[in-house]
Amino acid sequence: MPERVIIIGSGPAGWAAAIYAARAALEPLLFEGAITEENRLAGTLPLGQLALSTEVENYPGFPVGDLEAYLDSAIEKGRRSMMAPHNKEGASGPELLELMRQQAANFGTRIVTDDVTDVDFSGRPFRVTTSEGKQHEAQALIVATGARANYLGLPSEEKYKNQGVSACAVCDGALPRFRNRPLVVVGGGDSAVEESDYLSKFASVVYMVHRRDELRASKIMAKRAMDNPKIEIQWNRVVDEILGNDQDGVTGVRLNSTAGEDPLELEASGFFLSIGHTPNTAFLEGKIELTEKKYIKWTTPWRTYTSVEGVFAAGDAADDYYRQAVTAAGTGCMAALDAERWLAAKGL
Ligand code: NAP
Repeated sequence: MPERVIIIGSGPAGWAAAIYAARAALEPLLFEGAITEENRLAGTLPLGQLALSTEVENYPGFPVGDLEAYLDSAIEKGRRSMMAPHNKEGASGPELLELMRQQAANFGTRIVTDDVTDVDFSGRPFRVTTSEGKQHEAQALIVATGARANYLGLPSEEKYKNQGVSACAVCDGALPRFRNRPLVVVGGGDSAVEESDYLSKFASVVYMVHRRDELRASKIMAKRAMDNPKIEIQWNRVVDEILGNDQDGVTGVRLNSTAGEDPLELEASGFFLSIGHTPNTAFLEGKIELTEKKYIKWTTPWRTYTSVEGVFAAGDAADDYYRQAVTAAGTGCMAALDAERWLAAKGL
């Protein structure tokens, strides 16, 4: 018997879709991803990007406070015992995701810890293949595989992740270690300006490091960067190394010049990447309509429909604009409702 709905992805979009689909008695089967070194290095382990973030202060319903007793009572003991200690200052990304996962499981979601590596939409039911080579069939599919932030690929970047290196200023910018300190943002697009502007509220100075002598950002955003007295653009510069030590994490950055200038070292307690994202959609290439930047194309405004009838997309795999946990969860809910209504209309 084919599944009624398969969900691929285990970030806020996947869990929200699972909670709604399970409560609609669709008995969803969810693939949360495989726990492999390859996925760790790519930032695509189960639970996704939000799990890489420390405190989450902008997800509604979780004001700062000690959640310990709640986490202990809500999350199944085996998984709770494997979680990092709660720091008593509000919910962390992993904690929020464990709560979402538990909520989906409580309503009967069946969870498989494996990657989906291939899909076949040529017939019905759809067929998905996992990295272990297993095949599953489904009447409807919800893709919520997210996106991953692009990194430069420096070993020092990997070393200081969660110790000053971040690819999400909105997630991490307000943390104490970044307050009234110099910070570095790499990139010259709209996101880099937006993130520099955001960080300038906390930082003593934000060095925006850009590899050319002209920003890619739109004129209005570029003006915002130029007009902000706390943003200092380092033109024609690329990052050679992130400097730091085990105790303090990031302490600075060494920059090379693309214009023949001498290398430059800057003191900084934070290093933020803003050089774009890559959606996790490679396994969908040629099978569903993607945008130029490889995001899944929503074909109808305010619906999660894709170019393949019966396949719905949610979260950052289809959204290169908002990219927030709460918007991902919102579109996950929409995808489950769309799938439920589509299945009902088809009598499936
Ligand atoms: P983006 O426009 O692709 O810009 C990426 C930036 O990172 C570019 O300046 C690029 O340099 C730089 N970069 C890429 N790889 C690099 C590397 N390996 N080393 C150093 N620098 C590197 O991406 P985005 O800023 O994330 O924006 C994505 C989309 O969202 C855009 O369409 C943007 O307009 C939109 N957006 C809009 C707003 C807004 O309107 N408020 C806010 C955020 C995002 P080069 O310029 O040299 O290629």
